[in-house]
Parts: sequence; C-alpha cells; structure tokens
Amino acid sequence: MSSTPQHRSAGQLRDAIGDQVVPCVAQPALFFAPDDSSRNGERPAARELRERSARTLCASCPAKGLCLELARLERPAYGIWGGFTATEITNSKREAA
Ligand code: SF4
Repeated sequence: MSSTPQHRSAGQLRDAIGDQVVPCVAQPALFFAPDDSSRNGERPAARELRERSARTLCASCPAKGLCLELARLERPAYGIWGGFTATEITNSKREAA
C-alpha cells in the first residue's frame, strides 16, 4: 500500500470522489456490508467472494487513490475502500506510525 499524503479534508476527498463514476455507487452492499456474519448470515466463503469481487472493481476505479486517502483519514469500521479492507487500512496506518 503506497502512501502520498495530500492533506485534503474528508469533504474535499468526498467531493473529488463524487466527480468520478465509481462502481460502488451502483452496488453498495458489495463494498460496504458490515463485518457481522452473525446478524446478516454471511458465511466466510461468501464474504471472501464478495470482498474479492469488490477489490476487483476497485482496481479499475478512477477514484481509487482518493478513496484510499479518505479511508485512511476516516478509519472506517468495515467495508472495502480503494481495494483494501477496513482492517488492512487500519493496520497499515499502525505500521506507518
Ligand atoms: S476504490 Fe473506493 S470509490 Fe472506487 S469502487 Fe472502490 S470503494 Fe468505490
């Protein structure tokens, strides 16, 4: 995971992302489903498949860098952001600190 700090606010990042056509807008459940298998019944294999599908779409997203920057700023609790899980993003911030 590479890092290039731009020091943009969350609002600026959201606006910049909103100017792009991004795949997750049409399929939010694929990207931002909570990691709560006991409540939503998602099995580990289904979750892995869902996350892999989301990562594939993120790979060609024009806002990938902005999205990852926003996630690093906001530290989401779950979801796929810029091709990474919320846990991966949190862990990368810890390693960089
Ligand atoms: S990189 Fe971010 S904005 Fe783009 S599809 Fe993935 S989650 Fe959505």
